[in-house]
Order: sequence, then C-alpha cells, then structure tokens
Amino acid sequence: MVDVGRRNFLRGRTRPKAQIRPPWALAEEAFIDRCTRCDDCLKACPQGILIAGEGGYPTVDFSRGECTFCGDCVSACRPLALLRREGDAPWQLKAVINDQCLPQHGVECRSCGDFCDANAIRFSPRLGGPPLAEIDPDRCTGCGACLAPCPGKAIRIA
Ligand code: SF4
Ligand code: SF4
Ligand code: SF4
Repeated sequence: MVDVGRRNFLRGRTRPKAQIRPPWALAEEAFIDRCTRCDDCLKACPQGILIAGEGGYPTVDFSRGECTFCGDCVSACRPLALLRREGDAPWQLKAVINDQCLPQHGVECRSCGDFCDANAIRFSPRLGGPPLAEIDPDRCTGCGACLAPCPGKAIRIA
C-alpha cells in the first residue's frame, strides 16, 4: 500500500522537477512505490554521488563526481527499487552542452574531453575561433565525469 506522503508525492504535490535516480532505478512511479528512503544506496556508493533529494528519495548529484556503474547501489537496495537485469542499460541519460560553453565565446577549452573515458566529446575545428565541443550521443554513457570539471558550467546530464 502507498502511504500518504508517497501518494502526495506521486500526485505532484511535493514532486519536484525530474530528479535523476540512481542507475537501474525502476520507472519513477514504481521506484517511488518501492523505495523506503533507507539511504542504503547512498551509503553504498563509493563515489559519494547519491544524495537524499526531494522527499528523501535518492538522486544523483554529478557535481560530486561520476557514476562508474559499479552496481553497488543496486546490490544495497533490498526493496529492489534499483534492479539490474541482464542486458539492461543503467539509464538513458546523456550529457548536453549549452551556450555557456567557453569555445562558443572564443575561449579555448577541452576540459570535458580530457575527462571523458568514452571518447564521446569531439572538438570540431572551425574558422575564426577555437574548436567547438560536441557530444556524440551514441558514445555518451551519461556517466557525468565531464560535468564537474567544466569551467563554464555548460554541461548538464539529462
Ligand atoms: S553504480 Fe556505483 S558509482 Fe554509480 S551511483 Fe551506483 S554505487 Fe554510485
Ligand atoms: S569543459 Fe565545458 S566549457 Fe570547456 S569545452 Fe567542455 S563544455 Fe565547453
Ligand atoms: S557524460 Fe560521460 S560519457 Fe558522456 S560526454 Fe560526459 S564524460 Fe563522456
């Protein structure tokens, strides 16, 4: 049975803007239904990127670091709100670069590319300015490693 706090959360009374759940989370309503807000996944994450978000439900804070997809949060989740089935992708998240990106303003920068193990960020040469950073969505895993090092705060994971 869904308790009152959860029901209100699901109805949107206390639901915030979309929150990024830990990898391999169930679809949002099922996740909210199953998650007991025990914080076990927060304690299990070696990267320390899981925090208690709106309503006390776990959310990912990429300003703290990247997800390595180690699966420790999933293993720690006893109610199975995080559930890793064979072949399941951890999530559909990708990095998105906005117009605060420094090369768009004539400043040379490749910091994000230096942190991307997936080689998902290309720098396209152009006339009259430094190369522009572009995300390859087919390669990007949404790990978030590029977000914190970005000096322009130009990256979000969505
Ligand atoms: S997969 Fe690992 S690094 Fe990613 S959120 Fe879970 S515990 Fe943290
Ligand atoms: S680190 Fe940030 S500012 Fe620099 S190229 Fe990448 S997205 Fe642009
Ligand atoms: S989210 Fe990860 S894989 Fe995607 S561009 Fe950033 S560092 Fe590369």
